[in-house]
Amino acid sequence: METAQKILDRINQSTLIGKSHIKFNPDFPLRNYLHCGYCKRQFTGYWSKGRNAKYPYYGCPNKKDKDRFQRGRKKLTAEFQEFLERITVPEQVREIFSIILQTFREQKGQIQADWIKDKEKQINSIKCKMDRIQQILVNSSSFHLIEKLEKEREELNQKKLKYQQEITNV
Ligand SMILES: [Zn+2]
Repeated sequence: METAQKILDRINQSTLIGKSHIKFNPDFPLRNYLHCGYCKRQFTGYWSKGRNAKYPYYGCPNKKDKDRFQRGRKKLTAEFQEFLERITVPEQVREIFSIILQTFREQKGQIQADWIKDKEKQINSIKCKMDRIQQILVNSSSFHLIEKLEKEREELNQKKLKYQQEITNV
């Protein structure tokens, strides 16, 4: 119960409620509330570079800690939620964490929606360019120009397909 009280105190001093603060990082909403079980340092959040993409991690910031705790964000978030289900915490604490995680999901959703909008804009602009090329093509008799434009149109088409694929994969 002492731990729950500590969590509650920290939440009350925290930033999420009302004011904004530089320490609240929407990518890593839990980092201020967890610490390394070995060296007791407060967790940090970071992006680890994989082969094709970056992956979000939580972990102990202490590089000298040989038992340093590090865990992928998705896994840790799931574990944390399970932990909250298991332990006895005041209803208020439970509610606050569900708000934190919900806010995080909403922010992610917003970022994703903006990203899709941006891609769709680019796709539209590509379509406009392709239409223009088509206009020129039907009126052109220069073989050299036609060849060049068809190549360009094909490149634009590939780009468009790539963007459409990216949107589908979200
Ligand atoms: Zn540590």
